[in-house]
Amino acid sequence: MTRSEHPLSPYSPEDQRLVREFLAAHDVRCPVCAYMLAGTPEAVCPECAEPLRLELTSQSAATLGPWLFAVISFSLGLGFFGTTSAIQVAVFMAHQLNRQSTGVYVFFTSTLIGALMCGVLLRVTIRARPRWQAQPLARQRRWAWGVFASVCVAQIAFAAYWFFVR
Ligand SMILES: [Zn+2]
Repeated sequence: MTRSEHPLSPYSPEDQRLVREFLAAHDVRCPVCAYMLAGTPEAVCPECAEPLRLELTSQSAATLGPWLFAVISFSLGLGFFGTTSAIQVAVFMAHQLNRQSTGVYVFFTSTLIGALMCGVLLRVTIRARPRWQAQPLARQRRWAWGVFASVCVAQIAFAAYWFFVR
């Protein structure tokens, strides 16, 4: 075994060399167990045996907030429209279908479409997390607030329809 190939590390000899050089010059703690790594001769934590690797990152890539805000907004929309649709189905089952007014069917179809749209957009947003985080932080925040506002407006519109127009 050479010094550049620690048996516990899955990272390349080059990656391990960068860690050793970094640890020789910086007093940092293990990201897993917080052991003080100063003077550690290997790219593996001597306390918890976790292989270590240097990573270049940015505020945009490291901040999960705006993406999470968008995910929660779509989840709230899915919950709202999904619950409303389920209540409608219960109403249909409790009463005879042909005694419902046209407005009720329009409302049910709309909430179902709302639930489907929120579900699809939620899935797309979750899968697109790397692309989302590759955007500047200001744009991420604009998108997140846009998603939140859109879902809120849609919910308020349906609630208003339910209470005043129906
Ligand atoms: Zn450790």
